[in-house]
Amino acid sequence: MITGKNYIGNQLSANGTQTHKTINPKLNVENATPFHEATEEEVNEAVLLASKAYKTYKNVSGIQRAAFLNAIADEIVALGSELTDMYSSESGLPEGRAQGERGRTIGQLRSFADLILKDEWRNNTIDEAIPDRAPLPKSDIRKTSIPLGPVVVFAASNFPLAFSTAGGDTASALASGCPVIVKSHAMHSGTGEMVASAIIKAAEKTGMPNGVFSNITGRGRVVGAALVKHPKVKAVGFTGSIAGGRSLYNLAAERAEPIPVFAEMGSINPVVILPNAIAKKGAEIATTYAGSITLGAGQFCTSPGLLLTISGQETDAFIQDLGEKTANIAAQCMLHPSIKGGFVANGALVSSQEGVQIIGKVSGEIEPNFAASQICAVSGADFLTNTNMHTEVFGPFSMVVKCENEEELIKVIDNLEGQLTGTILAEKEDFNSLPTVADALQDRVGRIIFNGVPTGVEVCESMTHGGPYPASTDSRFTAVGIGSIKRWVRPFSFQDWPSELLPAFLK
Ligand code: NAP
Repeated sequence: MITGKNYIGNQLSANGTQTHKTINPKLNVENATPFHEATEEEVNEAVLLASKAYKTYKNVSGIQRAAFLNAIADEIVALGSELTDMYSSESGLPEGRAQGERGRTIGQLRSFADLILKDEWRNNTIDEAIPDRAPLPKSDIRKTSIPLGPVVVFAASNFPLAFSTAGGDTASALASGCPVIVKSHAMHSGTGEMVASAIIKAAEKTGMPNGVFSNITGRGRVVGAALVKHPKVKAVGFTGSIAGGRSLYNLAAERAEPIPVFAEMGSINPVVILPNAIAKKGAEIATTYAGSITLGAGQFCTSPGLLLTISGQETDAFIQDLGEKTANIAAQCMLHPSIKGGFVANGALVSSQEGVQIIGKVSGEIEPNFAASQICAVSGADFLTNTNMHTEVFGPFSMVVKCENEEELIKVIDNLEGQLTGTILAEKEDFNSLPTVADALQDRVGRIIFNGVPTGVEVCESMTHGGPYPASTDSRFTAVGIGSIKRWVRPFSFQDWPSELLPAFLK
């Protein structure tokens, strides 16, 4: 079924001599297919084709674009278990997760299809002319939103379907009227190619212009950088590491024509556990959080990597309980060897800082790509003076900070880098402290959760998945939910334009 080639529009192409293979992390073996990395010429061809397609695609009606998105969803469903088997063999993630993520991917495509059936998403506004206004007549001005042009989407390692080839970035960009070129993730190129084939089939069936979608493979940063630097590319969507997102952001800013990069990067997702919550529900919270910290081997951008508490005997007992419960959860397979490498290196960096205590860690023999979950603890004073401890350990790891008092807790929150989420666990007796803590947290995060866990990102209109840097490069936008379409459009006004020449949705 898979060829190991790039989709340059609807043509399969493999001019490059360099290849890479994906890895089955559970078995720790390479998968069979060699993937041909795109050449400079292939990158150029894909972008030029996208730029040409843009001229037509931007004017395709919302109804036709919706048919395209629904057809992509149908074609992904038609790939059946071959897709979910490929997904699991390249990510180590179980069949249930593959099915869940496929459902989410399809749901996102269909929700954008529903959105663009009508034109409200463009936020059109009309100021009618007042010809006899004194001292000067007022013009007729009508504002709408128009697509930016070809968008490059970097597939995420931790969501091979929902944040990858036909994931949220692709679905929202295609919905807005922008062609998409996906830089496939080198560690799930097979899953990427299968989904790309579904998108190409859907484009052909619904009569979309060739070049509306391309899928490019490559590793070693050359292909990704070439795409971002190409003058005909007009925006970038990225999910991955802070180092990766920041490099691409810098590349985009250095271009003769700078372009926006919407990167969703690192987050340690602080969870504030107020004293009465620990006193009343400590054991329950420890069980819930041992589960949340280790869920999916901790490979979620909303994984709780930082628990903020106030010192005391009950807090000490809670930390021990959490450490034991986490260490009792069996080691799980990570997505690929370099994610495991990053987990081990960053875990060692954080846990070796002065003042950090290892409270609980999975012990014994661990298979090569599996992760040993870990809980550490440190004082608020040490955490405040050493920002190495703020490093994201992407995987099943969490640091508990013991603050002297509420004042120190607020100081710790105020000194945190930007985050995707913040959570507060509190009982009624804590409500006096709640507004101050919540207010501090609001300045650092994109979403605040009360008495829950941050893992789990509902796809809905009210969701904010983003936050102050480095959680994302632009905190004004969300990467999840139908609002994410706003990243790919710009405002545009028609002044005194003849009514018969206006787009239908502005008449
Ligand atoms: P990554 O190293 O950031 O790579 C993601 C994609 O960006 C890859 O396609 C990579 O291409 C490309 N890329 C990265 N840096 C680039 C550069 N300087 N120039 C051009 N292209 C570049 O992320 P990853 O491999 O998926 O995972 C590694 C780390 O990312 C993890 O350990 C974790 O810390 C973090 N991560 C965070 C989240 C989150 O949501 N917070 C999600 C996933 C991963 P190449 O293959 O060509 O290098």
